[in-house]
Amino acid sequence: MGIYKVRNKEHVFMYKTKAYSAGSATARLASTTIPRRDPTTRDVQIEILFCGICHSDLHSVRNEWSSVMPTVYPIVPGHEIVGRVTKVGSAVTKFKAGDIAAVGCLVDSDQTCPKCQAGLENFCPNLTLTFNSPDRHKTAPVTYGGYSDSIVVDERFVLRVPSNLDLAGAAPLLCAGITTYSPLRYHGVTKGKKVGVVGLGGLGHMAVKLAHAFGAYVVVFTTSPNKKEDALRLGADEVVVSRNANEMQKHTGSFDFILDAVSAEHDINAYINLLGLDGNLTLVGAPPKPLAVSSFALIFGRRSVSGSNIGGLPETQEMLDFCGQHNITADVEVIAMQQVNEAYERLLRSDVKYRFSIDMASLKSEQASEASARTPQPRVFQPAIG
Ligand code: NAP
Ligand code: ZN
Repeated sequence: MGIYKVRNKEHVFMYKTKAYSAGSATARLASTTIPRRDPTTRDVQIEILFCGICHSDLHSVRNEWSSVMPTVYPIVPGHEIVGRVTKVGSAVTKFKAGDIAAVGCLVDSDQTCPKCQAGLENFCPNLTLTFNSPDRHKTAPVTYGGYSDSIVVDERFVLRVPSNLDLAGAAPLLCAGITTYSPLRYHGVTKGKKVGVVGLGGLGHMAVKLAHAFGAYVVVFTTSPNKKEDALRLGADEVVVSRNANEMQKHTGSFDFILDAVSAEHDINAYINLLGLDGNLTLVGAPPKPLAVSSFALIFGRRSVSGSNIGGLPETQEMLDFCGQHNITADVEVIAMQQVNEAYERLLRSDVKYRFSIDMASLKSEQASEASARTPQPRVFQPAIG
């Protein structure tokens, strides 16, 4: 136990942990300390080993989604978390100290609404995202994510990682994995289906691996000709450089399903036109500005456009188990926490193969070197009331 605060007459016991945060939409991410609650009865405390970098982290840090989800600063992003359990509350049954555990985009929901009852916590009207959501435990104004030394999460939102998976590559499954697995499953992607994946980034490359594992015929659409060979290696049957109109034309009216995982403005009508009768294009990419849809592209072929948001807890565990059985992880470039700002710039240039995974040992070593340069501080913090 460390500091405690009284908020709304409730006592909140907290400790401090190292993290990287941004103080404004134009600030670089930098080292800081943040409060975490001491584990309560149903909580699991996790020492974070790896955290993936999702483009949503970047959208949020730069407040690019201000009209939908304005960012509260300081922000600590990160929702692709894998780590080791250090402590559990007295009522925790699924985990014990020493276990490997994972946390994705959700850390709480109301647990009572029809969506939660159906295991679709991702659509709960009162869900708490892993970062930048009002913190119902009142540890801080908003939740702080996985660019951090440790995290404390209700065990119902903590997932198991199959023991055969490499942990750096498993972390991105918690967002990129489930965000692509869920719509591919929902839209019945299987053997005999022709599936397109638009944008070979973090989400896109997971979609290719998963759709291939489901037995579909997979075509990748990319703006980066230099990703062609990788796309084939990852499981694509064909690769189309989307800036080449002739290559696009060849696929007109032929797809059952297209998953669009592009992070920036682009013409989705070019892809809708590639769908066959009753074909569906699902958007998982979340560019800040609205995309224009041509009604003619939809009308001719009774086509539809829809969206999908991460996945619920049961499906996330199902995805992790599926990946365990098929030995699927993300292709990662492991980086140090201190390289995060450079990694964001590379993300913007579509220069990531195909997910950055932060090795949190780098944050610990920063702590050690900083600590050794300072006068030793007491490890137990004085109670503070605020
Ligand atoms: P990422 O790794 O940066 O990949 C995005 C890819 O989009 C790039 O690699 C690039 O692929 C393509 N692209 C980028 N700019 C483009 C442009 N101007 N025109 C056409 N293509 C472009 O991002 P990510 O982490 O996979 O995330 C992708 C999007 O999904 C983001 O908007 C993110 O916020 C969103 N997201 C949504 C959910 C959800 O639940 N729905 C969950 C997580 C993330 P090529 O080089 O192959 O063209
Ligand atoms: Zn994400």
